[in-house]
Amino acid sequence: MTIHRFFVSHILFDGESTSLSGDTSWQISKVLRLIPGDIICIFDGSGKEYRIMLEKVDKKEVTGHKVFEFVNNTEPTVHLSLYHALLPRDTFEHVLQKGTEVGVSTFVPVEAERSIVRIKDIKEEKMQRWQKIVQEAAEQSERGSVPSVMPAQTFQDAITAAVTSGPVLVAWENEEAQFLSQVISNISKDKPISLFVGPEGGFSQEEMEFAKEKGVISVSLGPRILKSETAGPVFAALVLYDFEDLSRKRDVSSRSA
Ligand code: SAH
Repeated sequence: MTIHRFFVSHILFDGESTSLSGDTSWQISKVLRLIPGDIICIFDGSGKEYRIMLEKVDKKEVTGHKVFEFVNNTEPTVHLSLYHALLPRDTFEHVLQKGTEVGVSTFVPVEAERSIVRIKDIKEEKMQRWQKIVQEAAEQSERGSVPSVMPAQTFQDAITAAVTSGPVLVAWENEEAQFLSQVISNISKDKPISLFVGPEGGFSQEEMEFAKEKGVISVSLGPRILKSETAGPVFAALVLYDFEDLSRKRDVSSRSA
């Protein structure tokens, strides 16, 4: 049976006991209807996870005690920042959800020239909803921490910031000379790697020129045109595959009680 996992930003133990409140106690008591004696898993992004046996279950407070703790080894060995063009409707949410499952560490929504959704459309509630989506995806996919969703930026600001943090790869469907598999061997994973994906209409010529002047590497992801929301998660998966992050085992030995 899958054990429900909950991200808790500050886990506090009093001896072996801990208590959970807010959204977490609501989920445990009202949504999942767990009962005393059930086991859950909590993690705080530090890498450590704790198996907790529930003692008291109430919508306002759940208490339990630690059964054992272990170190989560599932966090990617490469820090990927996915700079993804804003997309209409729920398609951007798919990028956040699938990107989290695949192993993106930071998401940056980007307003590109051809983005239909603009920065001014991103209200505080939307940011909160996005953060909730990555949190739930991180819990479900057994990530060790929850990716961050940064405030939306213009393409130019995003490129300018990204080039100062490490290598930058821009997925460009018109790129004919460079393929991801060829350029990846010259890229170091010591610094965060930034991946850029354009909107439905693609990046404009001017945007590609601006980016190249800043020193980014433009790459083709192959002969077929992917929809924007497909390109983001696929791009991230391919980079992690190339760095052999997907050939690591999940440490399950420490998970069975
Ligand atoms: N230019 C097209 C398609 C844009 S696809 C159009 O006008 O409809 C949306 C985004 O996905 C692109 O900006 C690019 O970042 C990425 N993408 C899709 N397929 C790609 C491919 N084969 N190689 C590189 N990037 C791709």
